[in-house]
Amino acid sequence: MPTITLRLELHKPTKVKQEMYERMTEVNTEFANWLLNHPELNQATSKIFKEFSSQRFPSAIVNQTIREVKSQKKKQKAKTFQKRWCCFNNQNLKIVKKGDFYTVAFPTLEKKIGVPVVVRPYQQTWLDRIIDGTAKQGTATLYKKKKKKKWYVAIPITFEVKQRKETNVMGVDLGLRYIAVASVGTKSLFFKGNPCAFIRRRYAALRRRLGKAKKLHMIRKNGDKESRWMKDMNHKISRQIVRFALANGVGVIRMEDLAGIRKRAASAKEAGRSLHSWAFHQLQTMIAYKAEMSGIRVEWVNPTYTSQTCKCGHREKENRNGIHFKCKKCGYTIHADLNGAINIAKAISGLSA
Ligand SMILES: [Zn+2]
Repeated sequence: MPTITLRLELHKPTKVKQEMYERMTEVNTEFANWLLNHPELNQATSKIFKEFSSQRFPSAIVNQTIREVKSQKKKQKAKTFQKRWCCFNNQNLKIVKKGDFYTVAFPTLEKKIGVPVVVRPYQQTWLDRIIDGTAKQGTATLYKKKKKKKWYVAIPITFEVKQRKETNVMGVDLGLRYIAVASVGTKSLFFKGNPCAFIRRRYAALRRRLGKAKKLHMIRKNGDKESRWMKDMNHKISRQIVRFALANGVGVIRMEDLAGIRKRAASAKEAGRSLHSWAFHQLQTMIAYKAEMSGIRVEWVNPTYTSQTCKCGHREKENRNGIHFKCKKCGYTIHADLNGAINIAKAISGLSA
């Protein structure tokens, strides 16, 4: 079942409320850190809070914090919590609709309050689905954005998607020269990768220059700009790929297992700087997510030999030369990335475990 997270801004909280949210977060963080070293953490119930402090604190939050601390301890992840935002399960944070306005109701230090939230049009559909029960609300988090100083609730939502009955299988190959090539039957879609590589190289060069001048702040700022640009690009590409799939009766999208792609990068340095790393991963994640939302199943295939194998079955490294594929045995020629996409659709090296 797909999950999305709605981030709803609390509508102009008063100073008093903001201070209270701040205080709740502080108490919760201290409590979480105290709990982390408690010898009876595994048997803890919400009553344990009384051992920690005599002040009033909602048991709904205490219960969520206990759960989180337990799981963190199991994973041996956190030694201390920098900040532990207050969380509420779906019994304790309720979405209420009054006319065209929405409020979220949750317990605080004093009492349960209902606060108005800013709702964007696309979020409205989801809130209505929670209210009518066609989507399930997960554990909500009350948090503040660092830079904006605004308070939000993040509400994860899971929902069912009807699997499409269509049976066509589409393969998507990712590469440097062509960032993505999709193939289904005799149809194909190409996304040229050069502009992305160009922008990345330009920013990498800029970062190196700035690095020498030790302008770390500038580096971070440019890094953000670059990743925003890439993210935007990936959104556009993934949207078009899924739209293409829907238009061509696709029920399954196959992509290469990314771990394999990483291994193919020439060196660690190369992998870090090239499109091979996070940008590919991000694009695959976006395609998978959008496909799933549309009822298209996603399968991961073993990437071995996808680029070297001919449709006649002959496999040889020399079959491929850059973007050109020419079979050494039967002479068949095709765009190399398209050949890759076709082989991915066929899953010639099997599905990845
Ligand atoms: Zn051949």
